[in-house]
Amino acid sequence: MSAHALELEQVVGHADVRAALVDALASDRCPPCYLFAGPPGVGKRTLAAAFLRAFLCLARRADGSACGLCAACRAAERGQHPDLHLVPQKTSRSGRLEITTVRSEVVEVFDLEPKYSRRRGVLIDRAETLSEEAQNSLLKTLEEPPAGACLVLVATTETALLPTILSRARLLRFGRLAAEDGLAILRQQSGGAEPELVLREALALADGSPGAALELLSSELFSERATLAGWIHAGAPSPADLRELLPGLDTGGRSEGTREERKERLHELFQLTLLLAGRELREGCSADAPGASASDADREEELRRGALMASCQRWAELGLRALDDLEAMVTPELVFELWAAGLPRA
Ligand SMILES: [Zn+2]
Repeated sequence: MSAHALELEQVVGHADVRAALVDALASDRCPPCYLFAGPPGVGKRTLAAAFLRAFLCLARRADGSACGLCAACRAAERGQHPDLHLVPQKTSRSGRLEITTVRSEVVEVFDLEPKYSRRRGVLIDRAETLSEEAQNSLLKTLEEPPAGACLVLVATTETALLPTILSRARLLRFGRLAAEDGLAILRQQSGGAEPELVLREALALADGSPGAALELLSSELFSERATLAGWIHAGAPSPADLRELLPGLDTGGRSEGTREERKERLHELFQLTLLLAGRELREGCSADAPGASASDADREEELRRGALMASCQRWAELGLRALDDLEAMVTPELVFELWAAGLPRA
């Protein structure tokens, strides 16, 4: 568990989901499987972890919240609770959750006797990446769940899950966060290091997702956002100038750092340009088209906006393709070259 683990009542937003969980805890009627589904970066995983800590607490309070003092709570706080499992611990190469992981970290865990109490909890994050084989291996556990077991599946969409899994899970749907809730979460998680204005900008760029905004804030490239936005407006410079943004990346064969590090930096670059273009597109779509009585200046503005929208569309398409290519291609530099060559230029 991270050092910033929150208790149920500290989690911002999603009042209806929290109320349903507190109800289940207070009446001691937690189903063996929950599915938390909703947009990325809104706090599903944080809430799931807080719920499971309360679920495992040995002296839960009457309102269903964890006591924070018992042996189970202290072990969970240290990330060392033997009956609390967070899957996956790290991302697999394929980006999918395979059957071997599910067997060793879910099925076998549920077969063991719990150490602290009669309960055990497992959280599967990014459940939409579970392979079909992995989901099938979960089925038996869900059909005959051991007493005191709770599995929480966290997913951005339930469409990737088999109907047989869905029919055995209690679905709790997460909506987008209200802007002020999103900001409150960012403040809570960013440790007050960034000015309010920057937090608001990151949140707007991330389309209201605090998780995505936190990733942006931790990216070194975030400080280059104005430069990148300028290029989206006025056209990209030459690939050589683009490359200056990415020290260490050299297509002449003198690249620095490991391939994974270079890949990571390119991922941040493509992601950021995608968000910047997306913001322009959202703003462009909400602007009014000029009416019949529009002046020449209005029409000119409309033309300019049309050109900008086309440019943003291109940046967004290229960004998406580059992110895919980054997963599929061996050489990050080649992905960069393809991306840079396709960008609209002044
Ligand atoms: Zn406790």
